[in-house]
Amino acid sequence: MNLSLFQKPSRYINNEVNSLRKEGEVRVALAFPDIYDVGMSHLGLKILYKIINDLPYASAERVFHPWLDLEKEMKHKGILLSSLETQRPLKDFDILGFSLQYELSYTTVLNMLHLAGIPIRSEHRAEKKWPLIIAGGPCTVNPMPMSPFIDAFLIGDAEEAIVEILDTYRLWKKEGDAKKEAVLKALSQIEGMYVPSLHTEHVKRRYIESLDNFPYPESPVVPYTQIVHDRVNIEVSRGCTMGCRFCQAGMIYRPLRERNPENALRIAEKSLKNTGHEEVAFTSLSAGDYSCLLPLLKAFNCRFLDRKISLSLPSLRVAAVSQDVLKEIKTVRKTGFTIAPEAATGRLRNVINKDFTEEDYERSLKMLFEEGWQKLKLYFMVGLPTETQEDIEAIPDMALKALKIAKKHTNRYVTINITLSPFVPKPHTPFQWYGQENIGRIKGKLNFLKNMLHRKKLTAKAHNEEMSLLEAVFARGDERLSNLIEEAWSSGCILDPWTESFDFNKWASAMEKTGIDASAYAEKAYAKDELLPWDIIDTGIKKEYLYKEYQKAISAEITTDCKKTCHACGLECKDSGESVIRSIGESATDSPIYPFTHSPVKIRVEFSKTGKLKYLSHLELVTAITRAMRRIDIPLVYSAGFHPSPRISFGPALGVGISGIKEYFDMEIKQPFDINYLLSEVNSVLPEGLKLRDCALISAKEPSLSSFISRYEYEIICPDSSAAEQFSGKEETDIREMIEDIKVMDKKTVRLILVDRESKKIRLGELLPEIFNVLYGELDITRLAMYGWKEKWTAPLERDMAWLVKS
Ligand code: SF4
Repeated sequence: MNLSLFQKPSRYINNEVNSLRKEGEVRVALAFPDIYDVGMSHLGLKILYKIINDLPYASAERVFHPWLDLEKEMKHKGILLSSLETQRPLKDFDILGFSLQYELSYTTVLNMLHLAGIPIRSEHRAEKKWPLIIAGGPCTVNPMPMSPFIDAFLIGDAEEAIVEILDTYRLWKKEGDAKKEAVLKALSQIEGMYVPSLHTEHVKRRYIESLDNFPYPESPVVPYTQIVHDRVNIEVSRGCTMGCRFCQAGMIYRPLRERNPENALRIAEKSLKNTGHEEVAFTSLSAGDYSCLLPLLKAFNCRFLDRKISLSLPSLRVAAVSQDVLKEIKTVRKTGFTIAPEAATGRLRNVINKDFTEEDYERSLKMLFEEGWQKLKLYFMVGLPTETQEDIEAIPDMALKALKIAKKHTNRYVTINITLSPFVPKPHTPFQWYGQENIGRIKGKLNFLKNMLHRKKLTAKAHNEEMSLLEAVFARGDERLSNLIEEAWSSGCILDPWTESFDFNKWASAMEKTGIDASAYAEKAYAKDELLPWDIIDTGIKKEYLYKEYQKAISAEITTDCKKTCHACGLECKDSGESVIRSIGESATDSPIYPFTHSPVKIRVEFSKTGKLKYLSHLELVTAITRAMRRIDIPLVYSAGFHPSPRISFGPALGVGISGIKEYFDMEIKQPFDINYLLSEVNSVLPEGLKLRDCALISAKEPSLSSFISRYEYEIICPDSSAAEQFSGKEETDIREMIEDIKVMDKKTVRLILVDRESKKIRLGELLPEIFNVLYGELDITRLAMYGWKEKWTAPLERDMAWLVKS
């Protein structure tokens, strides 16, 4: 398939650095019900990919939903959805493991099954020939709406349970038992597993005791395309002690488990070595509360400063922002900064248990702007329990205050982006009994706020309220909703989290057809003793505790951080009430000494881009080569300033889908460095399709490749070369002056020599369809060589060129 015809083809080319091809006795496809860019950013998928592929008898591959253009083509041509690694159709795997991160991905799960030729309902997959469909992730704490489609759910942490699941499956497969029921019965005995067909009445959430006892993906797959979180992510803690009442993650990932900071640093070292990434994020539900944050950040910078590795943290609690932390974050590059006040009045913050004062807010912003940040994101929720007009009107005031503080403490223009999200009451939180505010009223509030913020010259965007309605419906709903999911999917709803594909009208007609009143589900307020659809799932947190918290919320009463005082939520933490003090040993802060004292040298490199890697865009190509250099510690020279980047400059860009045989880049390297090793070293870590062919030292004063190169040699494979032959006989045209030569090699192959003219640069997309009389996408294009004028046409790396410095 010609992938150039689709958006971002590098999503589909596979063969990324660190991807594995293994044939296990038990074959698992890790399926993410969203596109590559989102799925590849998900840590859980990377953890499972490692754990499964580490097992001697099992193998894991990845599969994502294609973007809309490719999905249409697959349906049109009847192409089955397959894994990335081996291109095996999903129906030929033993297990498909879906990650349910977001309620709006439910229709995409159905579509992936359908694209794979697998029946969507479990009852139609009773035969052994169908793969077992398992789902995990946060949405499984209410598995009911998806229960007719999924054979078994894993509730909670997967690190331990996945091995038990695969052991159980392997045994069943070996025994040759033809009945799927047998394996489902065996799986239901594993703690954390819910098998809908067995109508289990009580399922305990699974959680691991310590993050340090389990393997971490230190060689994650390095994507070619830019993904949502394109960096090394290190989970420094799981769980949270702050007890925000709206936050499902804060409840269902309890208790708090912190990673040993020395382990976090070791993971950072290995992951950077294995990936060549330029940024590390220390992730956590509340990174500012990680007990060893500052020593970890200091040790990290001490170790990686020379390599220009920047670090980032997810959004910080207002009260957790500190000057020392800010100084460490900005050491290499200032990554974006996000603060989530969620509510703008002290009263409403007490309701949701977000414990910070106006003074905390002002102090944090002052520090942030004083440290030089010029971009800030603020998150607020709308439709929170007990919310009044006063609470709503306070949001623009709070945002404006940020602008005023910025003005006072910086002399620059500061961008403040405000994100507004409708509140969605989630199961297993103190607000699970509360019904979502009517979506019409939410819409009114969002419009009011957007207007107010716009008038105050602030940028605001609001989450789609209809998406939030559906999120509440499926988060709080029961098994009957499966009919709505199926109806919406069959009327074309897929990739619902994307505005490009979300169509509420289709959902509305699905509601009408199924007779399901979505608003009634979302807005339903439950009574204290009423049975909740998700009651069979026991997260370990007592319902009485959640209800007590709900009552405290109504009376705007705060519950303190349970790191200081245990509030007996039901989990009986071993460390309850004690804060964990960890430290980093001396060795962790040792900084490597680099003996680079001489002035840098400039090297010109010739390389090729062929095979599937022809689908890389120019930016993706630059990233792939730069990351390869980092993986083998090439001592790159960086630009100065706020965003240091390697001093590498490429020749004229190659378009997506075009191969290149003699391409070039110049780079600066610190001395001492043995140039003789450059090609073999870099080639040993480059993916198949990228190859360095030659290199030489050049003078620092040499003109850049982009100003030097102006003549190009192409080979084009086309449906019929006679069109080019006829074109070569045509009279002078506008584009004719750019064509130096057209040589027809055979019936399908043509060689072209093109030259930039002073007034006009070559644009292949315009030029080639005129010559070949076909659509650009139908041509297979290779750039064979490039030249610049130096008394005669000369290749950028010709050995006899006077300006080449002897190495
Ligand atoms: S048992 Fe106590 S310390 Fe542990 S999570 Fe619950 S409230 Fe917090």
